[in-house]
Amino acid sequence: MAPQVGVLAIQGSFQKHIESLIRAGHPADQIYEVRTPKDLSQVDRLIIPGGESTTVGLLMQHTGLDQTIVERAHQGMPIWGTCMGMIMLARTVENREQFSLNLLNITVRRNAFGAQVHSFETKLAVVGLVDPIEAVFIRAPIVTEHGPEVQVLSTFNDQIVAVQHNKILGTSFHPELTTDTQLHRYFLNL
Ligand code: GLN
Repeated sequence: MAPQVGVLAIQGSFQKHIESLIRAGHPADQIYEVRTPKDLSQVDRLIIPGGESTTVGLLMQHTGLDQTIVERAHQGMPIWGTCMGMIMLARTVENREQFSLNLLNITVRRNAFGAQVHSFETKLAVVGLVDPIEAVFIRAPIVTEHGPEVQVLSTFNDQIVAVQHNKILGTSFHPELTTDTQLHRYFLNL
């Protein structure tokens, strides 16, 4: 049976991930919007979308989702964070006190490519994918430090923009804003 995939739906671009999962061939009735710990208990894996990391951090703590996500991750649940989602997975956010889940041994720098007007789209080679992926960067973070156990899956101009450790995946960019479903399929197979 197909895994039950949850998309964190507190804030941000969760609807686009749902559309990408369907485009990737995942049955629509096996995709859930996750807003509470109870929603999370119904899924086998989780996508944390792009959005605003300070807002989502506060709302996660408010709903108790922070603790339940961490517990499930420690039990082996695959999680993929895109953009804001990768910030949430990080151990440390550079230059500020900010809540994060500490599920990936990485330090991230927010808005590393500048403001919204500096958003861009490019083709990126990613370890584990057959073809270069279409990647959209919107006020995207980069990984500035990582533990030796963290695998770098992709770089752009020598900046680290995709990482993985076991079943936790982080990408600076938004594949869900393109029609390219390679990373969604990769995540579904983790
Ligand atoms: N700049 C946002 C943040 O730091 C992330 C942007 C995004 O997810 N597209 O929270």
